[in-house]
Amino acid sequence: VFPGSVDAAGRPATLGVLGGGQLGRMFVHAAQRLGYFTAVLEPDAQSPAGLVSHHHIQTDYDDPTGLAQLAELCQAITTEFENVPAQALQTLANTRPVAPGAAVVGIAQDRIEEKAHFVACADASGVTCAPYAVIQTPAQLQAVLDERTDLLPGILKTARLGYDGKGQVRVRTAEDLAAAWVELGGVACVLEKMLPLTAECSVLVGRGWDGQVVSFAPQRNVHVEGILAVTHAYEGNMPPALATRARDAAVAIAQQLGYVGVLCVEFFVVADGSAHGGLVVNEMAPRPHNSGHYTLDACDASQFDLQVHAMAGLPLPQPRQHSPAIMLNLLGEVWFDASGQRREPDWSAVLRLPGTHLHLYGKLDARAGRKMGHLTITGPDVAGVKAVARQAADLLG
Ligand code: ADP
Ligand code: MG
Repeated sequence: VFPGSVDAAGRPATLGVLGGGQLGRMFVHAAQRLGYFTAVLEPDAQSPAGLVSHHHIQTDYDDPTGLAQLAELCQAITTEFENVPAQALQTLANTRPVAPGAAVVGIAQDRIEEKAHFVACADASGVTCAPYAVIQTPAQLQAVLDERTDLLPGILKTARLGYDGKGQVRVRTAEDLAAAWVELGGVACVLEKMLPLTAECSVLVGRGWDGQVVSFAPQRNVHVEGILAVTHAYEGNMPPALATRARDAAVAIAQQLGYVGVLCVEFFVVADGSAHGGLVVNEMAPRPHNSGHYTLDACDASQFDLQVHAMAGLPLPQPRQHSPAIMLNLLGEVWFDASGQRREPDWSAVLRLPGTHLHLYGKLDARAGRKMGHLTITGPDVAGVKAVARQAADLLG
């Protein structure tokens, strides 16, 4: 699908996305920069992506009429939200190229299938996941209580619909575990052993329909209360040998999936001397990822550019990072002062700092934990970027 081309009916080349969040918004920006028209399917009237797209189809993700409209308008379709029903992608794929496909999105949506995939490609990727057990039934819970106390202390995670640390309970004892499963509603879960993390990182991979693969260097991520807070993206952000292993592993995982589009693979770095060789694969997101937002300002092609190129069948650029970068997530808290009063952050002071790039997602309703925007700091050297990031964090704290 070439940008600027028109079909027999005179309609311009249009790319579609299921979901209207900030990832969809930044996808739309990247697609439009290349000359594409865009269509967003999203029920919310005021969504970040819907507000900036040429077309906004305002229906539920699985609404047959909405999906038919999207297919009618678009030459290729992607998703920005991993909990979009895989069935909706399958329906669209009957008539249009859809990337990533329903099958791989279905795997990434379910921690049980996701972990099974990581185990299945451990030989090719050179990494495995944390020790875990599947708990779907009271009998499986009992078996884990009886036989898998090696997984305690651990984290019980719902197999589906978890994000930003939601749908997880930390458990120390067998009693905790039994109570946590009830607390999570007795749904399908995995119990994962709690590992001694020294760091977390993620790798973004882009893969085309023809199997061409490109990737970014791993970025190191700091989470606070289960939500990404800071991403460090510069040489030396982690030991080089681990960075190479993580990048190779992510590429192998994408290849084994036959993946098309942008995939983010998250890893744990664990204390030396563990049985995991220092690197453990955690989870994957079948889309661009919060930890890759720095690529918009610090690289000559962003994760969203790769998504556009991959889905449209254009050659993928191998991105080159031209500046060290730190990204600070801007959560709803930033819009409130210490006494809980709503405030407008001092953007003038922030933007006066050298190398700051502010991205706001057009969300008017600031709530605690809500991703409102992000601030990327770039500069000629790592020390300077760190110093500005500290100043910016102080201003926003
Ligand atoms: P989410 O889908 O919410 O991102 P994750 O599985 O990535 O769920 O867990 C969120 C965070 O919880 C991780 O980034 C990490 O900080 C912590 N965490 C998750 N699993 C483990 C584990 N097995 N050991 C130690 N920390 C963990
Ligand atoms: Mg995660």
